[in-house]
Amino acid sequence: MNKLSNSLAAADIAHSVHPYTNMRLHEEQGPMIITRGDGVHVYDDQGKEYIEGLSGLWSVAVGFSDTRLKDAAMRQMEALPYYHSFAHKAHEPSIRLAEKLAEMTPEGLNRIFFTNSGSEANDTVVKMVWFMNNALGRPEKKKFLARNKGYHGITVASGSLTGLPANHGDFDLPAIPVRHLTCPHHWRWGHEGESEAEFTARLLKEAEDVILEEGPETIAAFIGEPVMGAGGVMVPPEGYWPGIAALCRKYDILLVSDEVINGFGRLGTPFGCQKYGFVPDIMVMSKQLTSSYMPLAAIALNDRVYDAIADNSAKLGTFGHGFTGSGHPVACAVGLENLRIIEEDDLMGNAARLEERFQSGLRRFADHPLVGEVRGVGLIAGLELVADKATRQSFQPAGKIAATVAKMAAEEGLICRNVYETVALCPPLIVTEAQVDQIIDRLGRALDRGWAWVQDTGFG
Ligand code: PMP
Repeated sequence: MNKLSNSLAAADIAHSVHPYTNMRLHEEQGPMIITRGDGVHVYDDQGKEYIEGLSGLWSVAVGFSDTRLKDAAMRQMEALPYYHSFAHKAHEPSIRLAEKLAEMTPEGLNRIFFTNSGSEANDTVVKMVWFMNNALGRPEKKKFLARNKGYHGITVASGSLTGLPANHGDFDLPAIPVRHLTCPHHWRWGHEGESEAEFTARLLKEAEDVILEEGPETIAAFIGEPVMGAGGVMVPPEGYWPGIAALCRKYDILLVSDEVINGFGRLGTPFGCQKYGFVPDIMVMSKQLTSSYMPLAAIALNDRVYDAIADNSAKLGTFGHGFTGSGHPVACAVGLENLRIIEEDDLMGNAARLEERFQSGLRRFADHPLVGEVRGVGLIAGLELVADKATRQSFQPAGKIAATVAKMAAEEGLICRNVYETVALCPPLIVTEAQVDQIIDRLGRALDRGWAWVQDTGFG
């Protein structure tokens, strides 16, 4: 390690508090310092090249070196580096991006509110829904339905909607009224001998039973990711989403599609809800909106939701919510340019074209002794690792095997992410056929090494 890296690592250990990290382990092993990016690749401070198989955090659609985004940011920095949109103020980048998102999102979603992160967006959704139902004279209609393994962020309300133990335990969450329903993942949560159709029917019955048990007059909204991402890449069974949408209509429950990972072509369609045939009342977007070159998230509202909120803001004199950075001009300028690139370079089409190669390539590992299930759609996939392929029993301690394989993959030149027992992949939308093949080869080598390690150490 050179001197600079040494001192950087030491400074990191001395002063940084890392998100999603075992801090004491970090103090021992130090950081992996990434210094630059080039297309789908990133480089560490030793000059080692990696394919970024998770697009950073599921987000860098255009790769790590698009100068058009840098130029868009520079132009906006020069013209107007900051302004806000409180109290009737406005600027062109946020106006144009709102207009663009209203045009891209499904029919009916015409109004856009900006935040800095997906978590803030989902907290905002909760508050908007409460604000709306208070205004409509139904203050008891406040509860949310979400799913186990769903991910919606980590702030107090969004973290409550998230259905993962690490985000709840010792954080005193959930802190808002929410019921978490069964994760719609047949392979893991289906009963013995239960067909996928029977599983779907059971989950829809569960949802309806919960609605009736709580009282439909108390359930405000259902939130879900079309394909679940950070919980381990779970693809819903056929009929699930149309069934959920029908229940929402039947009981006057708002349907919120959290498209933070799915949105902007990840599944080969512009949005995940289009893939699964439902139209939400509210849609949440972030990540590939700016390829994460700048922090930005957006909430799209249909007219019914917007009108109720707008009427109440008129009655109260304001909508008392907003962030200093809401609709930041540099972030919006980068978002607009990023969406232009996604369209002009046909990156959604690229995802759709490469889906078969990526997904069927990965399914070759279905027979691997470590792999329980390979799942995914478009350019997102997960491989769930198991100690026993027949019983689908996981390794103990939980999470260790996927972390070990992810570490081995990095040594092979592939960054992927371990989420619980699953190794997740979500490459940049600019990925080529040859790079898809490289991802699969490198992952294969990591799986083989992981299996050798299990046998050598007797792990599990
Ligand atoms: N929703 C989903 C579906 C996400 O995947 C994420 C982030 N992984 C979030 C919300 C939260 O976004 P952020 O990390 O920007 O707060």
